[in-house]
Amino acid sequence: MSVPSISRSVIITAGGIGKRMGAEIPKQFLELSGEPILMHTIRKFSNLRDAAEIIVVLPQSQIQTWSDLCLKHNFKIIHTVIEGGKERFHSVKNGLEKATGQLIAVHDAVRPFVAENVIETCFEVAEKKGAAVPVLDLKESLRNIGQNPSIAVPRSDYALVQTPQCFRANLLREAYHNDYQTIFTDDASVVEHAGKSVSLVSGNEENIKITTPMDLKWARFFLANE
Ligand code: C5P
Repeated sequence: MSVPSISRSVIITAGGIGKRMGAEIPKQFLELSGEPILMHTIRKFSNLRDAAEIIVVLPQSQIQTWSDLCLKHNFKIIHTVIEGGKERFHSVKNGLEKATGQLIAVHDAVRPFVAENVIETCFEVAEKKGAAVPVLDLKESLRNIGQNPSIAVPRSDYALVQTPQCFRANLLREAYHNDYQTIFTDDASVVEHAGKSVSLVSGNEENIKITTPMDLKWARFFLANE
């Protein structure tokens, strides 16, 4: 691992209480190959060619459990744990207070299969252009069900948005000075609302957000084939 010319941080978000996939265990603590998903995700960022400071956002109620899990699994990768906020927006804002990098990535804790080249490309494009997010084309047809009757919409006008979403730190901080709005579902939407444009880069299909029992099956399959 080397020290990059421009410093980098990643804020790994797991600050919401969220749905439990039918289990008592929060999704990010479910085990894959005997290790919590969050450990797999952290390792992806610690294995980068160039170092990134790692900040993990967790609900206050899960911080002790995480610390116990790190002891149990002898997990030694250096990272800072901070408390989440009411909405994702507030969790990221808390992360921004601690992040020291000149470039900042924000990544979902339950996306352990992000490809290294996707992370690197997002950082590179963010350095050049200010903001970069990974996206995938849609394979299915798409309908707008917000109206009755529903109506088919052109699939090529849309893309699926993943993380890590990467930004120049000053641009992201400025955007997060604005007040929270319910339309802010990710960092790109916060940055756009602040009048900045976001560049799109190609994501990787394995970079699923592990949310359902079916996602967990895919995750086990990906790990077995990594
Ligand atoms: O709810 P949703 O899945 O869209 O959340 C996206 C990401 O933001 C998840 O990684 C989730 O853990 C995180 N989050 C957070 N703090 C909250 C709510 C969500 O860090 N208060």
